[in-house]
Amino acid sequence: MEGYMTAVVKQHPKEGADIIKKEIPKIGPDEVLIKVKATSICGTDVHIYVWNEWAKSRIKPPKIMGHEFVGEVVEIGENVTSVKVGDLVSAETHIVCGKCKACRTGNAHICENTLILGVDTDGAFAEYIKVPESNVWLNDKDIPLELLSIQEPLGNAVHTVFSGEIVGKTVAVVGCGPIGMMAIPLLKTTGASAIFAIEPVEYRMELAHKLGATRVINPLEEDVVNIKK
Ligand SMILES: [Zn+2]
Ligand SMILES: [Zn+2]
Repeated sequence: MEGYMTAVVKQHPKEGADIIKKEIPKIGPDEVLIKVKATSICGTDVHIYVWNEWAKSRIKPPKIMGHEFVGEVVEIGENVTSVKVGDLVSAETHIVCGKCKACRTGNAHICENTLILGVDTDGAFAEYIKVPESNVWLNDKDIPLELLSIQEPLGNAVHTVFSGEIVGKTVAVVGCGPIGMMAIPLLKTTGASAIFAIEPVEYRMELAHKLGATRVINPLEEDVVNIKK
């Protein structure tokens, strides 16, 4: 597709970002062009925006920011077979090489050549984004766009909760940001016997309670290690 689009770009190695016109990405034979319909702001985007130490060491401007999104497929490369124009999709945000030892032994999640969307490559805070076919995630069109956009942090919560034995266990959720918060109903559904949510911000404390935490502890007011009954 020819033409220009509006994008949120980290242009310079300093605090902030710019909304500018960029060329619509050109896709290769194994890539998919997606018209972005909704995005969400990750903690990573905040790091990049404020330009903290992590961002300084990792980000090489200029880069279009953002990696959590949902959109509609508008163009596919000649080798693409698993999605078609008009499909509603999101993306796995880790682009792996498929060639290294980890990738070839079923451990692509620790690929040494991993590129992260919106960190190492141009991201989703734009009208269009290109993604390799192998990263495209086909969505159910009945699910609201704002929920489809936050599948990446939800995936983190699911991965974390399912990494250990949960059934019948007493579990602490240390910090109730979006991912910790998503972990609470997951833990409840999985059969944790008690969920202790540790969080100092009042709004989040209330939300953790609503989502099913057995007890919400403010670590600024209570000794978390030796909690009173
Ligand atoms: Zn994210
Ligand atoms: Zn690899």
